[in-house]
Amino acid sequence: MRPSYLIKPALDESYPEIDYGKGTYLFDKDGKKYLDAASGAVTANIGHGVPEIILAMHEQSKRVSFVYRSQFTSEAAEKLAEKLSDSLPGDLNWSFFVNSGSEATETALKIAIQYWQEKGVKSKTKILSRWVSYHGITLGALSMSGHPGRRARFVPLLEEFPTISPPYCYRCPYQKSAPDCGYLCAKELEGAIKRIGADHIAAFIAEPVIGAAGGAISPPEGYYETIKKICDDNNILFIADEVMTGFGRTGPMLAMEHWNVIPDIVALGKGMGAGYAPIAATVVSDHVMEPILKGSKVIMSGHTLSANPQSCAAALAVLQYLEDNQILNDVESKSVYLKNRLDQVKNKFSFIGDVRGKGLLLGLEFVKLPASKIPFDQSVKLTELVVKTGREHGILLYPAGAGLDGLSGDAVIIAPPLTITKREIDELIALLKTTFIEVYKTLGLPFEN
Ligand code: PMP
Repeated sequence: MRPSYLIKPALDESYPEIDYGKGTYLFDKDGKKYLDAASGAVTANIGHGVPEIILAMHEQSKRVSFVYRSQFTSEAAEKLAEKLSDSLPGDLNWSFFVNSGSEATETALKIAIQYWQEKGVKSKTKILSRWVSYHGITLGALSMSGHPGRRARFVPLLEEFPTISPPYCYRCPYQKSAPDCGYLCAKELEGAIKRIGADHIAAFIAEPVIGAAGGAISPPEGYYETIKKICDDNNILFIADEVMTGFGRTGPMLAMEHWNVIPDIVALGKGMGAGYAPIAATVVSDHVMEPILKGSKVIMSGHTLSANPQSCAAALAVLQYLEDNQILNDVESKSVYLKNRLDQVKNKFSFIGDVRGKGLLLGLEFVKLPASKIPFDQSVKLTELVVKTGREHGILLYPAGAGLDGLSGDAVIIAPPLTITKREIDELIALLKTTFIEVYKTLGLPFEN
């Protein structure tokens, strides 16, 4: 094997070398064009090569790219914090800037624990979460993640945080449907709190729409209202991990706005820098900050590059771009269009068991037998096959599903830049069909056009 720098998820696989990106497309060094149907990892929310962002970063870098946060603040960081507080619902007014989604959720964990300590309740240190979830790769974030495949190697180092079932209606563990189900999966939280004791629980964390671990699993109406009430009734903070869903990915700035639920703490990432710079944030509400401001006045977290002006300028320019071009106003209509087209594809390919998601965070789950929802044997590595075949045919998809554990099935996420046009959606669908025909051929499945 040729020595290579260690970025590749699979070291025995080779990837094309990128040349440049423009809008919804990426071009490799051989001149091959790819439709970026998942914005990389649901990150390039406004597409590639947007001149306004590049210019803002260039202007900032001409002045200064880095200052250390305990020596200077910067106009870019201050403006970004102010604009975030204006754009987010409720009293989510305090931003702590970090560099990745994992750092944002890990910081949320620490702030939640610190909040209770500042209030004098030292026993509240556990964070509850759900199975079929992904909150990041660092040990605290991984502890909260209900993703057995990613936990496996590190189990002795992890806390056993995940506790309750996800709102995975396609594979409901109770074999019921909402709203008649009475949200039994949400009510599992009550049981867990009784068992563990509210005195030991600092917070509950959830992704509004389950991303990497499940493939755009959106909960039924009423689910988050139930969860938030249980949290409030038991003095438990509610952390929304909006790393994937935030910054308008599902329409509103926060996906939680769909259900009128305002979290106590929010983690943002991915679409925040939209791939132009590494930046993420933990945003804290006034009422959570209050005891900290009265108490130690220090957030016990931080990174060298936290709030660096270069990344803040990029995120600020992204927010401005979303606003100036009213990008979020069109997410719902584009979502309806794309979802309808995906439903049509589902009618042609029986291995698509479910089309789901919210806004422009949509997912497809694949099954061997649609009627019984039986998944493909793991040895088929269906998700890998679909993603690889897609790349060969010029469409980039995001692999999802917890894998290895039987918790969730094979799935891909379809989450193109929010700036995608209807013509490009049509092209996405055409490329998807070509990909699926090829996958059928590889699997020897019958396909009639
Ligand atoms: N939370 C969620 C919901 C995510 O989707 C991800 C990344 N897939 C993370 C946290 C971790 O973010 P990062 O990879 O930037 O550390």
